[in-house]
Amino acid sequence: MNIRDLVCIGCPMGCQLQVKLEGDKVIEVSGNTCKKGAEYGEKECTNPTRIVTSSVYVKDGNVDVVPVKTESDIPKGKIFDCVKALKGVVKAPINIGDVVVTNIADTGVNIIATKKVYKAS
Ligand code: SF4
Repeated sequence: MNIRDLVCIGCPMGCQLQVKLEGDKVIEVSGNTCKKGAEYGEKECTNPTRIVTSSVYVKDGNVDVVPVKTESDIPKGKIFDCVKALKGVVKAPINIGDVVVTNIADTGVNIIATKKVYKAS
């Protein structure tokens, strides 16, 4: 049996989780205060994923960069590829929720803007 100690990132309480594994299979999650922690512990040991936030350069905008994020979780192992693929430039104007990059790093997930950028006057 293998035991992994994790800190739950589900909320600021940061519960200390202990995940018992038999091979790749999760046998038990303990230390969680709520159901969300058990789900996080299991997922983190079997299929870890993250929302990625970053920024992208903007051309012709009232600001030079726009904050962006993945529309949903992507596999943790794809984070580096995702950030690397965000080296491009987008053109203003940009609205919140606009897709800035489609299918980032072949994850099937789009990158969207999280702030409005106006066209420079
Ligand atoms: S187990 Fe629940 S209460 Fe504890 S950190 Fe995770 S989400 Fe928060």
